[in-house]
Amino acid sequence: MHINDAVFLEDLCPKFRLRQWRKSIHRFTGKSCIYCGKPSESIDHVLPRSQGGLSTTENCVPACLSCNGDKSDENALYWYRRQKFYDPRRAMAIRAWLEGDLRLAIRLLQWANPNFRRSNKNYETDESEYKAA
Ligand SMILES: [Zn+2]
Repeated sequence: MHINDAVFLEDLCPKFRLRQWRKSIHRFTGKSCIYCGKPSESIDHVLPRSQGGLSTTENCVPACLSCNGDKSDENALYWYRRQKFYDPRRAMAIRAWLEGDLRLAIRLLQWANPNFRRSNKNYETDESEYKAA
């Protein structure tokens, strides 16, 4: 068998790759909406596709259907600021995510949501968990 014969499943089936990518996005936040913390059921384009937003990890965040639908084509940060569930830590997390600093984004989300680290234990261990008494 020649090396050229090697076919990657991903190349063979772009849909498979898309699914894996979507899964990985949800995994970052422990399957919770980046805006409100409810279960994420969709991927939201922070800069909408209609405005040239790309389907890259930096531009795509896990969101629940309610946030995704409500935000529609608005600028995510402006929209988020007006929401009842607005949390400055989440706003910072969204900004970090857009800048491609997923590590920081996840830390900020953990800070905003104490239940988060329990559901996402495999991703990162949080030392503060042991300090809480
Ligand atoms: Zn939401």
